[in-house]
Amino acid sequence: MLNVLTVPAFQDNYLWLIHDGKHAAVVDPGDAAPILAALEEHRLSLAAILLTHHHADHVGGVPELLRNFKVPVFGPRQEAIPQITHPLGEGETVTLAEPALRLSVLDVPGHTRGHIAYFAAEQGWLFCGDTLFAGGCGRLFEGTPEQMLASLAKLAALPDKTQIYCAHEYTLANLRFANEVEPENVAIKARTQQEQAKRDRGQPTVPSTIGLEKSTNPFLRYRESGIADRLVAAGHLSDREPIAVFAALRQWKNSYR
Ligand code: ZN
Ligand code: FE
Repeated sequence: MLNVLTVPAFQDNYLWLIHDGKHAAVVDPGDAAPILAALEEHRLSLAAILLTHHHADHVGGVPELLRNFKVPVFGPRQEAIPQITHPLGEGETVTLAEPALRLSVLDVPGHTRGHIAYFAAEQGWLFCGDTLFAGGCGRLFEGTPEQMLASLAKLAALPDKTQIYCAHEYTLANLRFANEVEPENVAIKARTQQEQAKRDRGQPTVPSTIGLEKSTNPFLRYRESGIADRLVAAGHLSDREPIAVFAALRQWKNSYR
């Protein structure tokens, strides 16, 4: 029986510890200190490190963790992360004995060039770094709108009940933008209330689910005609091709306050 521990770090990052009560695998340890503290608190020993992409807030804690634990480091083959011992890409599988965990790897370029995501089919868990967020998606630092759109489509094709363990608490800001883009979408308004209540109680809004994202996340909903209408009305769009709509949406979000 596996569980996922939420370990907050920095301003708004979530680091994830997948564990069986004894052994743990950490996803995207941007900082070692909160992970070492959580391992000690829950009496866990680290068995593996899983990385989604090369940004410092996702890999910064790796050297310090490796000083404490001699463990394999899994990560994207297409990114230069020196500590990776097991480079991975689309279609490959991570199999750990303790904790007993099987993850399939998806290439999800867009935020970075070689970004990968890990899907635990048996548990229905997706660890997607900075690709899909609750209510939004990652910025395009190294990839194109076409790449991100294809990556998000790959994730949206997973079962609706899949739990999305993304790497940041950006949900309320994302939903404010979602509401701007789709002011008639009542699911966005209902979700905003629910997520606001969680934040008011000091709880994370993550994990989300694929089903919830499909009904509220504009970056999965850009093919809805109302979204193109709204972008045109706001002066952000002239060409209604899906890729142009997606690109305009991502661009508008970049400057939206
Ligand atoms: Zn990032
Ligand atoms: Fe990040």
